[in-house]
Amino acid sequence: MFRLIDSHSHLEEISDLERALDEAREAGVIGVIAVGMDKDSNERVLSLGETYPGLVFPALGLHPWCLDENFREVLEFVREHVEECVALGEVGMDFKIPKPKRLQLEAFEEVVSLASRFKKPLIVHSRWAWMETLESLKGENIPPSVFHWYTGPLEILQEVLEEGHYISATPAAEYSVPHISAIKECPLDRVLLETDSPVKYRGVESRPKDVLRSLKAVSEIKNLDEKEVAERTTENAIKVFGLEL
Ligand SMILES: [Zn+2]
Repeated sequence: MFRLIDSHSHLEEISDLERALDEAREAGVIGVIAVGMDKDSNERVLSLGETYPGLVFPALGLHPWCLDENFREVLEFVREHVEECVALGEVGMDFKIPKPKRLQLEAFEEVVSLASRFKKPLIVHSRWAWMETLESLKGENIPPSVFHWYTGPLEILQEVLEEGHYISATPAAEYSVPHISAIKECPLDRVLLETDSPVKYRGVESRPKDVLRSLKAVSEIKNLDEKEVAERTTENAIKVFGLEL
């Protein structure tokens, strides 16, 4: 059995979580990064980290989909609890949604400055805002961070890698052309595995154990043994998030 880390799950949205985590452990999952999106989910992931120590590691976030003018209240909560999380996520920008770019940029810049101040990696959502999110990170002295479920242009991926960052692969690596291209291009020592669960892939809700699907897809895309991909991606996640397992 492989040792795997699901580096991005919305655990608080999974209804039979206890069972989902048992199944994950049985599938070889040794760690799950539970990402928050707003104040409520941030509170939930912190408490999940307490319930499942050594398995669930909280990340505190401010998701662009959840943005409004009161975003500073969420950031205040993140700052108060920053020592209890392994990363700031899910954070970033999304120019496919009707939230003002100005507001997204303003909020993300504050997130980046928190990450820089407290030396936390970011778990970045960058859909249709790949260049802008990357530009916001440049020169900010933040630890190597993760561009989650990367589907952007390969030229921007090159810059993401030059800046020292990583990408993470979801089960969409089974069929999404831009995601497959990015994984093919990205060296294995910069790839993490994730599920973004409970996101639906091909109509079926995912769970942390589906990190096995991400593993299989990445192995096929890169034509490498599953064992090698499992070991390297787990090592990468441990390094990025400073996990103690
Ligand atoms: Zn997500």
